[in-house]
Amino acid sequence: MLDWTFDAKLESWVSSANERSTDFPIQNLPFGRFRLPGDASWRVGVAIGSQVLDLAATGLIASSDITQVLQLTKAQRVSLRQALVRGLVAGSSSESAWAQHVHDQGAVELGLPCDIRDYTDFYIGIHHATNAGRLFRPDNPLLPNYKYVPIGYHGRASTILASGKPFHRPNGQTKSSAQDAPVFGPTQRLDFELEMGVVIGMPNEMGQPISIGDAESHIFGLTLFNDWSARDIQAWEYQPLGPFQSKNFASTISPWIVTIEALEPFRKPLERPQDDPEPLPYLKSAADMAAGAFDVDLDVVISTPQMRAQGQHPENISHSNFAHAAYWTISQLVAHHTVGGCALSAGDLFGTGTLSGKDSDQCGSLLEMSKGGRQPTILANGEQRIFLDDGDTITLRGRCQRAGFRTIGFGECAGTVLPAIASRS
Ligand code: MN
Repeated sequence: MLDWTFDAKLESWVSSANERSTDFPIQNLPFGRFRLPGDASWRVGVAIGSQVLDLAATGLIASSDITQVLQLTKAQRVSLRQALVRGLVAGSSSESAWAQHVHDQGAVELGLPCDIRDYTDFYIGIHHATNAGRLFRPDNPLLPNYKYVPIGYHGRASTILASGKPFHRPNGQTKSSAQDAPVFGPTQRLDFELEMGVVIGMPNEMGQPISIGDAESHIFGLTLFNDWSARDIQAWEYQPLGPFQSKNFASTISPWIVTIEALEPFRKPLERPQDDPEPLPYLKSAADMAAGAFDVDLDVVISTPQMRAQGQHPENISHSNFAHAAYWTISQLVAHHTVGGCALSAGDLFGTGTLSGKDSDQCGSLLEMSKGGRQPTILANGEQRIFLDDGDTITLRGRCQRAGFRTIGFGECAGTVLPAIASRS
């Protein structure tokens, strides 16, 4: 599977792609959407260094609708990747024709990477599930279904934001244990969730489950994903049907979909303790257990209004890793989601759930970092955070590194909290 496009020595005629620090060397080539100043509609873009290539302008795809690209077969995806590398590699005869279709990422608007259809959020981070469960059930943090069922809920695609877009702190109902009745107002416990996004490519027909062995041919690639959460609203509303208003006010997705093909060198075995129950047959494949996890290093960075006013750099507050955090593979999520007959569409998005590591400096949410709101995080400038303040910006980052291969990254997934909108009640 590791063809010549993964050769670490390949360089591009787009010189920014050859810098060691870039997320987007020629070995990555993630897909997204952009528009030039004055454009009304989105174009399909491929990130290369600090630039974006207008894919339809190269003639490699027939339409400028990314939904068409998402539905390519695995073989078509591999040949598109090879054609892009041939066109972008240093010395390519395509340089003279393609150079005019390469734009500075800073000079264009990067949007949602595709039209997001349906959105499902899972809960595959076992350390997060354990940490969050322990706050409610100290002796029995994981519920009995956790190691059998990939737990999830159906969310809203309508409020998923492109990276960089701010959102308002939500209003809602909350009730603390000290109160007899709920009150209405802005959430006091606004949190982030460090997640990855799984973008579905090829659809399936309703009633036609996708087998575990075929699941990856339906996955186009991965993004970063921040599932902003209002913990006080969540605590009051979540029983018996799960999260609702606490999750549907905003989520942020990174601009680039890193393809399954580009992630090939960074596969790992699924980490599943020896004495845990075997997955049911529809969730089990030897190939998936051996190589269905992905080694993505993840970081959470905060920038507060005070830090910006005083010219301080954003501060890294957590570091995690997808492969160490996840109890299920992305193929298992697809197989489980469709096993009862559910139809997936091109552009459907799965959130993985919060990807905390097992240690206290690897928390994927402030709920865990603050041990349920009890212990503040002290920033380098002396500021304290239990939950997010207005004006705070959270940025997620992800990178894949392996000796002998070029490091690839996911770009940024950033969002800023605006004050709540004054309620009329
Ligand atoms: Mn979530």
